[in-house]
Amino acid sequence: MNGLPHRSWVEIDFCRLENNVRNIKASLPDGVKYVCVVKADAYGHSMPQALLRFVRGGADVFAVANLYEASRVREIIPDKPILVLSPMLKQERPLAFDYAATPAVSSADEARAFARLADERGRPLNVQIKIDTGMGRAGIWHEEAGREIPKILEIGGIKVSGMFSHFSSADFDAEYTKRQAEIFLRLARKYGSPEMLIHIHNSAAMRYLPIVPPLNAVRMGLIQYGINPFPDNAGFDKLNIMPVLSFKSRVLAVSRGARSPIASVCAGYADGVPSGYSKDARVLIRGKLCPIIGPVGLDEFTVDISSAPDARAGDEVTLIGEQEGNSISLPDYSRWTRRIPWETMVAIPKRVARVLKY
Ligand SMILES: *Cc1c(COP(=O)(O)O)cnc(C)c1O
Repeated sequence: MNGLPHRSWVEIDFCRLENNVRNIKASLPDGVKYVCVVKADAYGHSMPQALLRFVRGGADVFAVANLYEASRVREIIPDKPILVLSPMLKQERPLAFDYAATPAVSSADEARAFARLADERGRPLNVQIKIDTGMGRAGIWHEEAGREIPKILEIGGIKVSGMFSHFSSADFDAEYTKRQAEIFLRLARKYGSPEMLIHIHNSAAMRYLPIVPPLNAVRMGLIQYGINPFPDNAGFDKLNIMPVLSFKSRVLAVSRGARSPIASVCAGYADGVPSGYSKDARVLIRGKLCPIIGPVGLDEFTVDISSAPDARAGDEVTLIGEQEGNSISLPDYSRWTRRIPWETMVAIPKRVARVLKY
């Protein structure tokens, strides 16, 4: 950085990250594997550097969205499975071998295509079967699973190393989620085997869905980063997870000419501050909550500093995180900016520096 101070930055507390993973892992029944979801730059938490902390915390398997992300994990983690959650494009399939990535297959045809590539290379490939239990996206539609899965299980050249499904609404519809789980468990009991990883839990499901055999793994995203997926922020007290990410900026200038004193802050929508915020939106300056006012610009936004009248240019501004005994949680900020927490995490662009706290 040549000594240039940051104007807007994200702080990532790697000790908390590692502790979160350790605590989640410790809460799992014996033998249940931890699939660590690191897609989208570990939800904006600097994936390459975070990987080591995930490993130390107890991650057994990594999960990403695509092969590019798989390649970046493989560069650093030579010896753990990497599950690619989204379907691979036809053109991408050969790269699964280069990165020793595990594709999620959604049909017998797709599995056969991987088997042909495995034959050409004279080396087997692990795949996991993805089952659609009601998400309505990728995966074998569960009503067709009885036809497709047996076909996949007998294809040579590939090894089915797992079977999984994804919840569509575990953070707001427990009944639907439980029905999805029942459908998956029925299929897993029928077609699963002890060598396979069998998993359906995402973060939200951990609150109320027991991890019972044949389930033997969980896929953890949001709660690793210390955020409760539920708006009521309850249900995870025993896990003792702590928020990892803070979002900070600085006061650029203070104006006392208008009816109330106003500070401009050096972050705008190019730094991921959404223009569509609600009237409740606040930031912390000098430990005081100050409302955001006026339109958000590309590089700046303005706040009313009536509650922090001593604010000066250069003061730290906290958009997410703790400041002088006060705090704004990531879910608060998300609600105020009309986003969901996942979206907030991945919407802070590269322009904003990442400061890694060790
Ligand atoms: C992103 C993702 C997860 C993680 O979800 P969280 O709600 O963040 O825990 C799990 N499984 C799949 C298939 C995903 O795409």
